[in-house]
Amino acid sequence: MEAGLPADTAQGPKTGIVHLGLGAFFRGFGCVFVADAMAASGGEWGITGVSLRSPDTRDALQGQGWGYTSVTLAPEGEQTRWITVLTDVLVAPEDPQAVLIAMAKPDVRIVTLTVTEKGYCHNPATGALNADHPDIIHDLAHDLPKSAPGFLVRALQCRRAAGVAPFTVLTCDNLPENGRLVRGLVLDFARRLDPDLADWIATEGKFPCTMVDRITPATTMADIARVGQLTGNVDAAPVMHEPFAQWVIEDDFVGNARPDFAAAGVEMVQDVTAHEHMKLRMLNGTHSALAYTGYLAGHETIAETVADPVFAAYVRRLWSEIIPAVQAPDGVSLTEYADALFDRYANPGIRHKTWQIAMDGSQKLPQRILGSLEATLSAGRDSSALCLAVAAWMRYVGGMDEVGQVIDVRDPLAGRLRDASDSADTPEGKVAALLDVRDVFSAELAEKLIRPVTKAAIQLWTKGTRAAIEEGAL
Ligand code: NAD
Repeated sequence: MEAGLPADTAQGPKTGIVHLGLGAFFRGFGCVFVADAMAASGGEWGITGVSLRSPDTRDALQGQGWGYTSVTLAPEGEQTRWITVLTDVLVAPEDPQAVLIAMAKPDVRIVTLTVTEKGYCHNPATGALNADHPDIIHDLAHDLPKSAPGFLVRALQCRRAAGVAPFTVLTCDNLPENGRLVRGLVLDFARRLDPDLADWIATEGKFPCTMVDRITPATTMADIARVGQLTGNVDAAPVMHEPFAQWVIEDDFVGNARPDFAAAGVEMVQDVTAHEHMKLRMLNGTHSALAYTGYLAGHETIAETVADPVFAAYVRRLWSEIIPAVQAPDGVSLTEYADALFDRYANPGIRHKTWQIAMDGSQKLPQRILGSLEATLSAGRDSSALCLAVAAWMRYVGGMDEVGQVIDVRDPLAGRLRDASDSADTPEGKVAALLDVRDVFSAELAEKLIRPVTKAAIQLWTKGTRAAIEEGAL
């Protein structure tokens, strides 16, 4: 579809999906797949977006009838498409009741989520609900919630009270076994509220796991200006993404109620685990490793980082350490997958900032890097490139780069990480203090990591990141 004026939403589809966390990614990915599924097979799968934080997206989209431009950043040029699948956007802190009402409507059969890793209020090292999280404490004590688990459980409570079947919870965040993890969090929260509710959700609810993949950098002011010139329409909130998109979903929905995802090119499977491990470890793991090392070496984007031959060799080394511990999904060659990832990273049209990917590392490291590291160390294989990535994260969260500039570290544990880093003057001391942060490292893993990560950290602090990688002397 060409870019054009917003469609009349009164003639659009009815709402069948509520999406929590309406950021760039879901608008450039899930919304596009749902629009394609409806174009192919019909159905009432309009999406009400919800922001659990700021009103920015609602404010930007309201004046354009909830439509927006999805921009494909292909190496040969940019293609635009006007997306009209959103039916409304709500801002939870302004009116949490309106969000619960939307989620409790019988026509809503699916609640999708991209609230980032930290939005689940869990302990990343164990996957358990963090009952000390201020939003969880609040949500257990009040009917009108703040957190994503709180909204899911309170809305399911409303549905049960009204005799309406639960919605399917379809998380699209990069978490390990994301559906099962969210199910565990929802059941734990619900049990603290009302054990009968928890039993009902456990029996009737569905939480399929998903693997989501499309690199979608944050939209910049320059993007907004360029898209306006390209389409002739002023769009306050376009989304920018690569051509590649892969969505793998476990086909396990309440009442089988879902868009015809397969018609839109989604892979509907029985078990997503193999796809998800491959993607989290090979894509997200190397993305994070390149983000910390690349940022410290002064690279602004992933494309810039891999254009530097030292980092191009580093990412290949990372894959050679990661691949032996990854089980390939049927019919997939992991070396070909790595080659394709390299080409995607190198796309100069994608200005995915190392700083953006570096955000929230405490929530990302376990599933992206530590799982690979644990497997590699247990098997006695070389893990020096992965250890260097952990050391680079440690240097990054210390808050000062290699030329003495302050780093704007965004992380829910930023204060604790900074304190741990500041508690020692030497790389050895900093590594020991950071390995003691139990939200990230189990005691068992910390013991295994202390020697190799200290070795990597000494190289990194004394020589600088680029030289430490270049010399490979880890
Ligand atoms: P974004 O910054 O554009 O949007 C993040 C959304 O999460 C916003 O709506 C924000 O309000 C909400 N949020 C942030 N912190 C929250 C919290 N503590 N509780 C509840 N909501 C919170 O980011 P994005 O690019 O849309 O990415 C969001 C998530 O999507 C990622 O964390 C990842 O899990 C997944 N994802 C992103 C990409 C990508 O390339 N951007 C690719 C695959 C998966």
